[in-house]
Amino acid sequence: MPAPTPVLRVALPVPLPRLFDYLPPIGLATDAIAVGQRLQVPFGSREACGIVIGHGHAEPGVELRQALALPDPQPLLRGELLASLQWLAGYLHAPLGEVLATALPAALRRGEPAADTTAYGWVLTEAGHTALPAMRNGKPKALATLLASVRAEDWLDDEVPGWRASLRSLRERGLVEREKAGSESPFPRKGDSDPAFSLNDEQRVAADAVRAADGFAAFLLDGVTGSGKTEVYLDAITDCLARGKQALVLVPEIGLTPQALARFRKRLGVPVHALHSGLNDNQRARVWLAAARGQARVIVGTRSAVFVPLPDAGLIVVDEEHDGSYKQFDGIRYHARDVAIVRARALGVPAVLGSATPSLESLHNAQAGRYVHLRLRHRAGNARPPHVRVLDVRKRPLHAGLGEDALLAIRGALDAGGQVLVFRNRRGYAPVLLCHDCGWSAHCPRCSTPDKPTPMTVHAHGRRLQCHHCGHRRPSPLACPDCASLGLQPQGNGTERIEAELQARFADMPVLRIDRGSTGHRDALQQHFDELGAQPGILVGTQMLAKGHDLPNLTLVVVVGIDEGLFSADFRSSEKLAQLLVQVAGRAGRADKPGTVLLQTHHPDHPLLQILVNGGYHAFAEGELELRQAAGFPPFAHLALLRAEARHADPPMQFLHVAKAAAKDFAIEASGPLPAPMPRRAGYQRAQLVLSAAQRRDLHVALEVVMPALYAAPDARKVRWSLDVDPVEL
Ligand code: ADP
Ligand code: ZN
Ligand code: ZN
Repeated sequence: MPAPTPVLRVALPVPLPRLFDYLPPIGLATDAIAVGQRLQVPFGSREACGIVIGHGHAEPGVELRQALALPDPQPLLRGELLASLQWLAGYLHAPLGEVLATALPAALRRGEPAADTTAYGWVLTEAGHTALPAMRNGKPKALATLLASVRAEDWLDDEVPGWRASLRSLRERGLVEREKAGSESPFPRKGDSDPAFSLNDEQRVAADAVRAADGFAAFLLDGVTGSGKTEVYLDAITDCLARGKQALVLVPEIGLTPQALARFRKRLGVPVHALHSGLNDNQRARVWLAAARGQARVIVGTRSAVFVPLPDAGLIVVDEEHDGSYKQFDGIRYHARDVAIVRARALGVPAVLGSATPSLESLHNAQAGRYVHLRLRHRAGNARPPHVRVLDVRKRPLHAGLGEDALLAIRGALDAGGQVLVFRNRRGYAPVLLCHDCGWSAHCPRCSTPDKPTPMTVHAHGRRLQCHHCGHRRPSPLACPDCASLGLQPQGNGTERIEAELQARFADMPVLRIDRGSTGHRDALQQHFDELGAQPGILVGTQMLAKGHDLPNLTLVVVVGIDEGLFSADFRSSEKLAQLLVQVAGRAGRADKPGTVLLQTHHPDHPLLQILVNGGYHAFAEGELELRQAAGFPPFAHLALLRAEARHADPPMQFLHVAKAAAKDFAIEASGPLPAPMPRRAGYQRAQLVLSAAQRRDLHVALEVVMPALYAAPDARKVRWSLDVDPVEL
């Protein structure tokens, strides 16, 4: 009998829960190829880039194909990261190949070569030092002066935008030269790495607790807005760097402003590598590789940065840990905060989760003793907490949703030289276009069912309609399609309409709108804030305004349109609303100027508002945790949500019945299948099944059986389906 053929077991980015066997590329033996290496292989009629997961022997009778190429001499994924990703694939019941592909930056996932990531900096030559005193004032001289203390290229990007032009002239004259960094803390910066103040007592206690951690420990840094949580992170990172270790800091997408990065760079004295959606594929791959090679010592990034390799890990920080942007909503539905904890444990390093409004999950973990609960109860420096007031607008005249008390308060704040933020969590001009004569209203043709119409949002001062669920757009009709009346009226208020109203009323003041329509990306946000500067003015916007840029002159926050959020059906909606209100309120009066927050409502006695105003976020959270416990919701139960959709309503329901049947012998509860809360979207009929268990283990034991049944189900290819473990929305 011939010896069995040795093969490589490869994870490929395809939606199938299995590995694939390949022969090594021509001229290579299987044992010359290590686990974690990329492998270019033929797959069907195309090529794919996979990751070698193991070695094995060919099954008899299976036709084997030969791999095409080995892109790297070394494994790209190894050690803790590979192990954590394998754990994650198991936890999410997701195909390993897709999980690994999600963790890799796009360029590497596509099989592109791993770039050189040597860091470079610039120094003055001897001739440069000699010439500097006599140089003419101007940009080149300013740059040459700076190069005496600042060398790393990413600092130059921050501090002297457009520095490359000046550099060229210095270089032509032989006054500067390029320098290559060593891997230990490349280009430490001289000077100004100390804060202008020392940590206060609460900060000191928190910082010392983190410094004292030996190996894995999870800290919940629970501190009101402006209490100086960032200073505690900076202290922990400084200590981590001093021990020669790498630090990873996760921030919400909108929190990664140039301002925030500059604060980290100035204070830490080493280059800070940013990873966010504003970078191109090559830049992202370079940061990831620099981390893998230990060259990047501090990485600050958004959700997917949780997957950077950390060969010298010392610390993981998750800022605003409650933030919704940490959850991935399609593909591999991971939660970056949870992955961060798993990795910190595997790496044996402390994890610090910071928030002014911690998630109920994290508070529960702190109460159960799994996390060390660190509290910062006071604002740092002299800043005082804002004064919060509920404004009852029942029976009061409203102007684009703003009551007269609110308008008076805005006038007063502007007259006193302050800035005002008007928060409304709905972009567009108005949420509905209604015919005043017959009651017709504009619905999205792709997202509505006869029972559940989905209104289209009015944009462009009434000229355009847009569906916020599927993106469908069309011009507004000139007359009612049902009765031909010309009495079509936008109903309700979005940020655009509020902006127009405020512009008309406060014509002498700048009014800036900040939402996804006006402010597509991070840099635009910064530009808006820079434009306003410190002068009096009004910002109108959605939750993009709830965090990010520091606004020291902000003295008044007006929140409108919260009533719809008070009565939402989702079990997490109260938590989200409370967090949003407290975060927005926290923006008022950050510096020495006291701030006021006005919450406008038709339900002034609603328990959520009462408890927030009188007791604060923690009083709310305590009550809410009791409700969750009584109702058997997370964090007291563990959920998985199966979604399915198709052009017709039947296949998704039938498909989910397969799951329900497969789950019936387990210690879990299956609710559904039922039409999704939004039963139709972009032309697809949607259904869902919620699986719930008191013990996490029971849920996963059941999923081990349910998932194979689903892959084998006759309808599996007729529906689009997904599993969401620990869903944040039902
Ligand atoms: P948080 O992240 O908790 O919202 P920050 O770290 O951004 O708070 O700090 C809020 C403000 O307070 C910043 O302007 C910061 O410089 C200042 N600050 C922080 N710690 C202190 C301190 N110990 N003394 C004086 N000011 C401080
Ligand atoms: Zn009509
Ligand atoms: Zn739609």
